[in-house]
Amino acid sequence: MIIILKKDPEQKQLDNLKAWLTGQKLTIHESRGDSHTILGLVGDTSTVDIDLLRALDIVEDVKRVQEPYKNANRKFHEADTVIPVGSTQIGGDVFTLIAGPCSIESEEQICLVAAAVKRAGATMLRGGAFKPRTSPYAFQGLRGHGLELLMEAKKLTGLPVVTEIMDLSQLDLFTEVDVIQVGARNMQNFELLKELGRTGKPVLIKRGLANTLQELLMSAEYVMAGGNGNVVLCERGIRTFETAARNTLDLSAVPLLKKMSHLPVIVDPSHATGIAALVKPMALAAAASGVDGLMIEVHNDPTHALSDGAQSLTPEAFSDVSAAVMAMLPYACRYHGGKVV
Ligand code: PEP
Ligand code: MN
Repeated sequence: MIIILKKDPEQKQLDNLKAWLTGQKLTIHESRGDSHTILGLVGDTSTVDIDLLRALDIVEDVKRVQEPYKNANRKFHEADTVIPVGSTQIGGDVFTLIAGPCSIESEEQICLVAAAVKRAGATMLRGGAFKPRTSPYAFQGLRGHGLELLMEAKKLTGLPVVTEIMDLSQLDLFTEVDVIQVGARNMQNFELLKELGRTGKPVLIKRGLANTLQELLMSAEYVMAGGNGNVVLCERGIRTFETAARNTLDLSAVPLLKKMSHLPVIVDPSHATGIAALVKPMALAAAASGVDGLMIEVHNDPTHALSDGAQSLTPEAFSDVSAAVMAMLPYACRYHGGKVV
C-alpha cells in the first residue's frame, strides 16, 4: 500500500500517522519526490482502513500495491535509484561500462585487461574468481587467490570491481569488492540474497536463465527487505527454443523493468549471445534502449581463455564497441518516472 501525502504535510500530523502505522506492525518507506512525499507500507495491510487514511488532512490518496515486490517497486519510489560505487555511480546520468575477463586467470592477464579496458573507457572492472560452470571438470576459477589478483588490478587502475559470489561462505573474502554479483544460476538462492541484504554493498543480480522479470524483482526484494537498497538488475539473456545464440537477449526487459522498478538496469550482451561478433550490435541495441550500463567480457587472448572465450572481445574490439556506444548515447531512449520520454 502507498500513501501519497499532500505537499508540505504538517510535521505533527505526519509523526502521528507514522506512529499509528508502525503500531500496526507495518514498515514505512518514505520517499520524498519533487511534488509529493510517498509512504510505502510493507507488511500485512489487509486490516488497514483505507477510507480512514484518505480522510486525513495530510493525505492526498491511498493506493494498494498489487505487485508482490514493494521496495523494488516504482510505485514506492518514483525517482530512479542511483548507487554510488567508488568515485563513480550506477544509474542516473552516468553510463556504466563494466568490462573484463570472464575469469581471472593470472596477475598478468587481469592487470593487462584492466589497463586496456580502462583506456577504452570502462568505468568498472569485472572478473570472476568463483565460477559457476556447467561442468565440474571445467575451470572453476582461482577463488580466493583470484580475488587477491583482482584487488591488484583495482589498485593498478583505480577501477571499482564487480565479481561473483557463489556461496554465503565466501562473503568474508568480499570486503574490498565494490559490487557483488549474484549470477544467473544463483538468482533464487534466497539465503544468499538475505545475507547480502545485511551488507550495505551494491549487489548486481543477473536474471536467471528461465526467470520472469517479476521473479528477478522478487530477488531484488530479498536484498532490499534486509535493508540494502543498493541493487542493480542485469538482463543477460534467457533460454528459449532458439539455439543459434547461447541465449536470447530479452531487450524489452529494459523498458519493462524501468517501468516496474526504480532500480538501475544493465545489460550483458556477452552472456546473452555467447558469440563475440554479436556483442557490438547487441551492446548498441541495449544502449539505445536506454539501459544504465553494459557488462562486456574482454580477454587479451580469447582463443586461449579458460572460460567463455567464444564471446570475449579482444581489447581492440572492446575499444571499438565502447567508442560506438559512447557515440550513440546522445540518441538513446530516456526515461522519466519509468516511461520513455
Ligand atoms: C559471468 O558473469 O561470468 C556469469 C557466469 O554470468 P551469468 O551468471 O549471467 O551466466
Ligand atoms: Mn562468463
